Amino acid sequence: MGARFLSPTMDVTVSVVIAAAGRGERLGSAVPKAFVSLAGEPIVMHTMRCCAGACLFARAVVAVPETHVEQLRELVAAQAPWPLKVEAVIGGEERQESVRRSLMALGEECEIVVVHDAVRPFVSPDLFFACVKGARRCGAAVAAVPVRDTLKRTTGDVVISTVERQGLWMVQTPQAFRLPLLREAHSRAAETGYRATDDAALVERAGGVVQVVRGQLQNIKITEPADLHYAERLLTV
Ligand code: C5P
Repeated sequence: MGARFLSPTMDVTVSVVIAAAGRGERLGSAVPKAFVSLAGEPIVMHTMRCCAGACLFARAVVAVPETHVEQLRELVAAQAPWPLKVEAVIGGEERQESVRRSLMALGEECEIVVVHDAVRPFVSPDLFFACVKGARRCGAAVAAVPVRDTLKRTTGDVVISTVERQGLWMVQTPQAFRLPLLREAHSRAAETGYRATDDAALVERAGGVVQVVRGQLQNIKITEPADLHYAERLLTV
């Protein structure tokens, strides 16, 4: 068992899983999305710096494409001494599988795991802390912002109905969980073939309670070229 790391403000061992194994199709990129350059540095490095800056995590497990394991190690080594213990694992075909593999790499000393997308490089320490507090209270907590726009349901380009937006949230990462709860939810999903676009959905499916924590609008997910341009601008203002 590794040394017990207690964050200065929380008497609990917390680790972070960073999902960075996606391909960059929607970004139109030849390199995996998390390795696309943002202000001269791969997006994943910005995100890892946010994680290190929170001074909350005992270690980071980063899921990357098999082709980029060495590159991640070299990037971290080039920044030595890096303030956070980092381990690279090979991600899966889908995000869910990348997270599942990362969870397997975590030791039993980890009590709370935070899952975060590599392509959200503007996450704040406060948001990490809020999610961890929520997970300690409820078992699981996700960052989310209330839907602000009017929502329409369509068939093709024709409106069928207007969807009541009261009580609807756009969910982000970070998402924090008691580790055994998330592991169990992932193994149940793997057994039943259940697929979801976030980890909280697996816990919901398994009957767990998930708390919503107020997220931040600047915690954008870089998905399309316009997001990358916006992110560049955010870094230069
Ligand atoms: O594709 P999507 O925008 O949902 O990706 C969210 C995050 O999940 C990204 O950081 C991406 O690198 C990661 N991902 C992954 N493994 C996959 C697909 C996506 O780690 N197979």
